[in-house]
Amino acid sequence: MPPLAPTVKLNNGRDIPALGLGTWQATPGEVREAVKHAIDAGYRHIDTAAVYRNESEVGEALQEKFKEGAVKREEVFVTSKLWNTCHRPELVVPTCKKTLADLKLDYVDLYLVHWPFAYKEGDEFYPAENGIAITTDIDYLDTWKQMEECVNLGLAKSIGVSNFNSKQLSRLLEAATIKPVINQIECHPYLNQKKLIEFCKQRDIVVTAYSPLANPSITMPAGGLPLLQNPKLKLLAAKYKKTVAQVVLRYVFQLGTVPIPKSFTKKRIEENIHIFDFELSNDDVTDISKLNKNYRVFPHAQAKHSKYYPFHDEF
Ligand code: NAP
Repeated sequence: MPPLAPTVKLNNGRDIPALGLGTWQATPGEVREAVKHAIDAGYRHIDTAAVYRNESEVGEALQEKFKEGAVKREEVFVTSKLWNTCHRPELVVPTCKKTLADLKLDYVDLYLVHWPFAYKEGDEFYPAENGIAITTDIDYLDTWKQMEECVNLGLAKSIGVSNFNSKQLSRLLEAATIKPVINQIECHPYLNQKKLIEFCKQRDIVVTAYSPLANPSITMPAGGLPLLQNPKLKLLAAKYKKTVAQVVLRYVFQLGTVPIPKSFTKKRIEENIHIFDFELSNDDVTDISKLNKNYRVFPHAQAKHSKYYPFHDEF
């Protein structure tokens, strides 16, 4: 059996594996193989979302692994997310049930509000006019009450948020009956999120780090050197006899977050989970932190007119 990632305690007493597999940007067939390979490689945490349009395939892969006896349901931590078009309170529970049907599961381990702002309802995931998202003013506090209902109904073991800034989290914490366990945010050496991580830590909210490799498939603005080609990181990779991706994931883990790198390449899926057998020195962590330039892979600028857009504030 391959070594498993350690676990991190959530504020409701449950455990989350300290590294997961991201599943965004799948072409048909890819994600099924990736999830199965990841389970074989020791992953016990899969991150998906309705908007990735791959929950059925993720579910098929999980079912195959359950049937094979490779893992039991209770040994795998599955996260999904409520999309922006489904924030109206009446839609939350049915949308969660649809995700469960697609995943072929009785419950998700974690259900997240994907973004704090809402989009016009309908079949289109990205309703827009001239490149500008059509948003609505549904308050995420009203959505949250129904996220709590998902827990009460046993559809989700834990609930949390994604892409919330510190003010939005404070407002949510004041109103919530069930506290969010996670804030899933973009985090990598070019956007190390130290202030928001510290803010979450003080409130016992775990941070999941998305795009932990600064998603090399997305071209950086002109002149920007892709993270995995950074010379400082290459030197550190040689020093620790690891790959640059492993150094980056280890850094993100040592910041106190749970990275969820996506790969559909077998070798990289294996590579990305092998970060728990070495430790970066404090000096090297400090050095990597100097690479921060507040570069966002996902500014989601098409929604920046929304009153709930999270990235106008510093953190
Ligand atoms: P990422 O994990 O930073 O990068 C993924 C890219 O890196 C893929 O193109 C992958 O290629 C490549 N890659 C993976 N491992 C590698 C390695 N060891 N060496 C070189 N290249 C490697 O970016 P992401 O997919 O944007 O983020 C990860 C996950 O976070 C997503 O899949 C999704 O589950 C979640 N996410 C959440 C949000 C949110 O709003 N909550 C937003 C974005 C992402 P191959 O697949 O070809 O190997």
